[in-house]
Amino acid sequence: MCPNCNERSAKTHKTYGVLPCEVCTTARRNVLQPAASVEFTTEEIKKSRKEYKHDIIAPFRQGEVSKEYLDEQKRTNRPHNLNISKEQEENAKNVWAGTTTYYEK
Ligand SMILES: [Zn+2]
Repeated sequence: MCPNCNERSAKTHKTYGVLPCEVCTTARRNVLQPAASVEFTTEEIKKSRKEYKHDIIAPFRQGEVSKEYLDEQKRTNRPHNLNISKEQEENAKNVWAGTTTYYEK
């Protein structure tokens, strides 16, 4: 039974448990619209950040090709689509992490 109107049957959600019926949910959503959409956006961003993690690695750092980026593209079987020469690709360095030890060699 809907906890809000006690008339119609409630909906159940695997995380939130018992939810008000369709009619009450719609009425509530109309009232809470701004807050609800903000939360939705945040969740969407979190989700897409997780899914497209490899896109966050920038392909270049101060003009140097990022090996992390190329490796990530290789790992996910995607062409890197960078306008770089074969040589640049082979000489790519890990420009985003552990760079100090790399340069000390
Ligand atoms: Zn209701």
